[in-house]
Parts: sequence; C-alpha cells; structure tokens
Amino acid sequence: MCVFCDIAAGKIPAQKVYEDENYLAFRDINPKAPVHILIIPKKHIEYLSDIDNSNKGTVADMAVIANKIAKKLGIDKSGYRVVINNGPDSGQEVFHLHMHLLGGKRMSFTT
Ligand code: 5GP
Ligand code: ZN
Repeated sequence: MCVFCDIAAGKIPAQKVYEDENYLAFRDINPKAPVHILIIPKKHIEYLSDIDNSNKGTVADMAVIANKIAKKLGIDKSGYRVVINNGPDSGQEVFHLHMHLLGGKRMSFTT
C-alpha cells in the first residue's frame, strides 16, 4: 500500500528499535539528528488529520512509545522532540501517519 506499510510487513528492511502488535519504530533513512526514529501504527492511516475521537488513542500510544524509546536510547534526560507532519506545507513526504523522534543534539526551532 505504501513504503511504511511495506516496512511494517517486513517487505522492505528497516533498523527496528521497537515493535509490538500494533506499532513499529525504526531509524529514519535520512537522519536529521543523531537520534532520528520514526514511530508508525502498523495500520495504514494517512494523515494526523484522519485522527478523531474514534482513533485518538493511536497518537497517545505513539507518544508513550516515543518516551520508551527515548529512555532506551539514552536521550530521556538530554531531551527530545516529536514531530508529526500533516499535509503539503509541513513537508509530509510519506502518507502513512508517523511520529518523528529526534534527539542527541541541541536543536533550533525553524519553519
Ligand atoms: P515526512 O516528511 O513524511 O514527515 O517524513 C518521512 C520520513 O521518512 C523522512 O524523514 C524520510 O527520510 C523517511 N523515509 C522515507 N522513506 C524511508 C524508508 O524507506 N526507510 C526509512 N527508514 N525511512 C524512510
Ligand atoms: Zn501505509
């Protein structure tokens, strides 16, 4: 269906850092920081804007997983950023909901 569905199905390899029944996290192929992880639901959801009251737990679960991974990778104390891009102006390139987890360096906020 899409590149992240293929990664979730094991059809495309990825450097996995976390997996459970419903979610997968792996290293970004083009990292923007020393730690750059993508957290995805295995189920294909295109946009953050597809999140409503019926599926909002997905985003909460992704935040919990981001916190777990931050601890595991040792950036929980130094700090980290989570980003979800939605639509053209955000620069979203892959249309399968994903949370970026970034850390390991001091970041600036740019638009
Ligand atoms: P977006 O701009 O959609 O929020 O972020 C998509 C991210 O997915 C980008 O940071 C890009 O480097 C990453 N990416 C795209 N294709 C692949 C891939 O096949 N494998 C991995 N590991 N990351 C990918
Ligand atoms: Zn997908």
